[in-house]
Amino acid sequence: MAITLTSHGAAGTVTGSKHLLEITHRDGTTRRLLLDCGMFQGEAVYDAKHDPNRRFGFDPSSIDALVLSHAHIDHSGLIPRLVAEGFGGPIYSTPATKDLCSIMLADSAHIQEYDHAYDVKRARKRGEAPDEDSPLYTVADVEPAMDLFVEVGYGNPTEILPGIKLSFTDAGHILGSAAVHLSIDDGERTLRVSFTGDVGRYVDRLLPEPEPFGQADVLLCESTYGDRDHAAIAEAEEELLRYVTDICVTNKGKLIIPAFSIGKTQEVLYTLNALSNNGKLPRIPVFIDSPLAISATMISRLHTHLYREEVRAELLRDPDLFSFPGTEFVRSADRSKQLNAIEGPCIIIAASGMMEAGRVRHHLRNELGDPANGLLAVGFCAPGTLGARILDGAEEVKIFGDTIPVKARIMRMAFYSAHADRNELVRYLTCQDPKKLEKLFLVHGVDHSLEGLRDLLATKGFKNISIARKGMRYKL
Ligand SMILES: [Zn+2]
Repeated sequence: MAITLTSHGAAGTVTGSKHLLEITHRDGTTRRLLLDCGMFQGEAVYDAKHDPNRRFGFDPSSIDALVLSHAHIDHSGLIPRLVAEGFGGPIYSTPATKDLCSIMLADSAHIQEYDHAYDVKRARKRGEAPDEDSPLYTVADVEPAMDLFVEVGYGNPTEILPGIKLSFTDAGHILGSAAVHLSIDDGERTLRVSFTGDVGRYVDRLLPEPEPFGQADVLLCESTYGDRDHAAIAEAEEELLRYVTDICVTNKGKLIIPAFSIGKTQEVLYTLNALSNNGKLPRIPVFIDSPLAISATMISRLHTHLYREEVRAELLRDPDLFSFPGTEFVRSADRSKQLNAIEGPCIIIAASGMMEAGRVRHHLRNELGDPANGLLAVGFCAPGTLGARILDGAEEVKIFGDTIPVKARIMRMAFYSAHADRNELVRYLTCQDPKKLEKLFLVHGVDHSLEGLRDLLATKGFKNISIARKGMRYKL
């Protein structure tokens, strides 16, 4: 048996997660198994001469099965294109990941169509040809992709191809997120390959800690924060309350919280809900201005069994942890526009977290120029995004072609990171005996985090650590 690994994304970058395993059995047959099918985002796209989302680097019709670690677009976002280009095999994921993908991939398809139409319009105005002649994929491509999903629960080993068993453990990163474990057996030997996907934190408010997993022979480990420690979290509730009080009570201003629709929005709502239950939250309107966040919040309500134990106990006292007096979930674009005219203090939670897309841009255009207002960043903003420019201290920014002075107070909370920091990654890997691990590949990080994690793990006794390079084929 010969097995190779080739990373076609999230190799030296944090987006585009795609890792291809090719397993050649003794009888000469080869099976191809893809781990994740994510979209490249941010600088990974802008820097490339050709859009890396338009070339997989392998033939989609040659893939036998896809295993998906979690629903984030940088792990799942190219599934509709993979299917449109000929992949017809099963897509294995947890039930919650499937539910989240059904709304996220439809939302992503809308964005692809909208952005493409915008490109065409702009090119036409200039008398030029558009960059690409079709969107990456369309809404019509999503349903055939969703039809291929096969649900596999945590801790439920399932044979997915002859001689190949899959099991998931809870990665604690977002609802439904999983670490992937494969046992590949050809009658002669068994190779255990594990892939962490994205690893959550040991302090997450809603989700349980990342779950330990059985010994692997080969491990692919994420490295997003491989060279960083997150700030101590102890008083997240108090910190959030302080910002709300400063902006909404003292200044009588508006507090804008840009947040990813999935995970981050629910975490922030959960904290506000707790403050409200304790009678600490001032009586101000809280708008959740994101249709995707509304759908994701509904899906979160359907999967409450995945929350950590204390949270499940809380549900007995408060059956809805994401809404409280004052919340309004804004679905329609008209109502979203009306929020501009609202006088007086309020909190507006809107996507996207990196402030590059979504309704939050409208609110920033309207509110950033007023020193009474505040912007509270709760997530990672990739270099080059509007969020990164604002957080880096830009005095003015361009939004929808207008130059907007940044006068509002800019604040940042590290607590809501969905990724383990370097010490948490090391803690996660204590379930592995470094002497028994034959190979360790570091993926999903930029150079300094990959190198930082490699050096740190070497001090913990891990050997044969490689930083996976895009397109390089490794023998396992
Ligand atoms: Zn993720």
